Amino acid sequence: MSAVNELATLNDRLIRQIDQMAENVIALAEINSGSFNVDGVDRCGERLADLAQSLDPDVVETLAVGPTITLDENGHRKETSMGRALRVAKRGDAAFRICVFGHLDTVFPSDHPFQQVSRQGDVLRGPGVADCKGGLIIALEALRHLERTDWGSRVGWEFIAVPDEEVGSHGSKALLATIGSRCQLGLGIEPALPGGGIAAARKGSLTVHAICRGLPAHVGRAHNEGRSAIRAAAQFLDQLEDCNSRPGLTVNCGAIRGGGPLNVVPDFAVASFNVRVLTNDDHQWIQDRVATLAAQVRDRTEVSIDIDWIAARPPKERSDTLEVMLGDAEAAGDMVGDPIVGEDTGGSCDGNDLAAAGLINLDSMGIRGGGIHSENEFADVASIPSRSAIMSYLIQQAYQRQDAG
Ligand SMILES: [Zn+2]
Repeated sequence: MSAVNELATLNDRLIRQIDQMAENVIALAEINSGSFNVDGVDRCGERLADLAQSLDPDVVETLAVGPTITLDENGHRKETSMGRALRVAKRGDAAFRICVFGHLDTVFPSDHPFQQVSRQGDVLRGPGVADCKGGLIIALEALRHLERTDWGSRVGWEFIAVPDEEVGSHGSKALLATIGSRCQLGLGIEPALPGGGIAAARKGSLTVHAICRGLPAHVGRAHNEGRSAIRAAAQFLDQLEDCNSRPGLTVNCGAIRGGGPLNVVPDFAVASFNVRVLTNDDHQWIQDRVATLAAQVRDRTEVSIDIDWIAARPPKERSDTLEVMLGDAEAAGDMVGDPIVGEDTGGSCDGNDLAAAGLINLDSMGIRGGGIHSENEFADVASIPSRSAIMSYLIQQAYQRQDAG
């Protein structure tokens, strides 16, 4: 069957199954799986494992991942245990192997008011319907199609859904890198960009804390003996904001805390900020710049500033291979009437880490929708057939290319 006919057949078959697929998305989304709701994340994984059994996989297993690292109120690192990752795999011994990746967790904790899913026509509204439970169903359908083709029996696959993507995948990084290193192609199911596009280059993202420790003193009796941590933090942040003049680089201080009684010189403050970088050069540049600024402020104020680079996702840059994949995705989109374009974005995801681990990947093959990370989140279930077809086409093209090469 020609590629066009094969995609059309898949698309048509799935269009007739929209109600069933919508129900599967709803079932996953109505299990609260806020990142720190371990029980809910695990139940979401179990539900997905049940659905994946229909693919007749060789492996269905849950895997422990490392903790998520945050900063406690005293400026020390704190570890929080997370739920388990789900890994479903088939034909691990195939010469050509793909990795399909997504996540079980959402940004909505169990006490958040946004819990129920509603459906109006093809639109689902609910927590995680787009990010990325709709995508999990797309992945299942693309893999189901693969199993029905004659060439699919020569493709090995691993489907990994991590429990902690929304908090930076701290604990899953090593697992993702291991899986990525044994595959030749990665397809991620993060939601489509607004307008339906897929992400090409992605900026890198760094989460950083500047922990300032000075000396307390009574304001009335010994102000000059104090060393204000808040003053140091303010000076540091003022200069840090100037880094925004570097093209392509963004620095944002999103939180600052510290101090206490107003009659005491504050001896503790933490400024937390996020940096977005376009290139690995920017990544190095900002690290050097932050170290320099911290040292300068330390010298001026006699307040220590410890910089904790608590989380980093390297930038994902465009490459020739990525351009080929984008071309495939655009061609497939045209074939099934779901036109898409590759766009660069400032957001980052597991696709960044997998690219850094050497796995070429397109990471936003998921559902069309919007309002993600808000109570306006919605997903268009009518896009599940076309998105599954596009994913299938990408796998087929990559397989044929390596088979010929
Ligand atoms: Zn996501």
